[in-house]
Amino acid sequence: MNNMAKPNDRRIDNIREILYIVWVMHFSPSTYDFPPFRPPNEANSALIRVTRGCPWNRCQFCSMYKHLKFESKPLAEVKEDVIDARKIFGAASTIFIGDSDNLVHKDLPEIVAFIREVFPEAGRVTTYARAKTILSRKMDFLKAARTAGLDRLHIGLESGDPIVLRRLCKGAGPEDMAEAGRRAKMAGFEVSFYVLSGAGGSDRWREHAVNSARVLNKAGPDFIRLRTLTIQHGTPLDEKLSRGEFTLTAPLERLKETRLFVQTLEVRNCFLASDHLTNYLWTEDSILYRGISGSLPDEKERMTATITRAVTLIEEQGIEVKDANQLYRDGLISSL
Ligand code: SF4
Repeated sequence: MNNMAKPNDRRIDNIREILYIVWVMHFSPSTYDFPPFRPPNEANSALIRVTRGCPWNRCQFCSMYKHLKFESKPLAEVKEDVIDARKIFGAASTIFIGDSDNLVHKDLPEIVAFIREVFPEAGRVTTYARAKTILSRKMDFLKAARTAGLDRLHIGLESGDPIVLRRLCKGAGPEDMAEAGRRAKMAGFEVSFYVLSGAGGSDRWREHAVNSARVLNKAGPDFIRLRTLTIQHGTPLDEKLSRGEFTLTAPLERLKETRLFVQTLEVRNCFLASDHLTNYLWTEDSILYRGISGSLPDEKERMTATITRAVTLIEEQGIEVKDANQLYRDGLISSL
């Protein structure tokens, strides 16, 4: 028996799909539901939510989805959202898919293909992904999502140190992280890893710096994004902090940690960004340090020199600085 579709079948499907899109755009009530979090560089992206919450939801520092039960949204609902997003965002040049771990959605390749159909102008479609989920998915699935038009995965490494990862309850070890990065690259994705400066606390900042760089050296990411651990009220890490079971890395130590991290990196064709407010250091009346950014390996020296200048100012001139943790606790910043 021949189960192959006839050439015209796909055309009929296309016509049905177009009629469906027209109907949803003009006659159906909007149920659009957007992801509450996205990376800083996706600030102007059209947002599509294919899952709600986080299937892991145990990281000690994270407050993002703590009160949300995880679910994969039904395919039909997601498609309606995509059409509504087109009405809201127009011809967006970038699309971001939320929430925290969308490779768990079994229909992701079909969803991405639909997004590409509704947003034909989009130059980039990206999503968050957990390392363990990348490892659990068959290569065929990853490649299908990539071929459908998913370009980039944002993965939370946080740390490459095994003890720090365990303390953070990240649910993945250094080898998992490196392997997930390699697999994602093998499937054809661009990979962006997030590193949590200060995650080692004052007792493990050196190990955190060196081992995080080592994992990234093995994974070979396209982007590394730094954000600084800012302990938020109500998180398990906040409770550990109050019990004295975790000590924050002081701003000066954290600068040294970042310098050691950059010095240990041996990645190529990679861009390092500090595109988050939490990386800043403030004096009484100005900003002393805005983080570092640049291409690796070419701008490694320039970036380490920027950090050294900040270290020297603090050490030699005794300048007092505040970081995002102090500002958060003083009530001067709330949204992270
Ligand atoms: S950091 Fe990411 S993986 Fe961890 S609980 Fe938060 S959303 Fe989930």
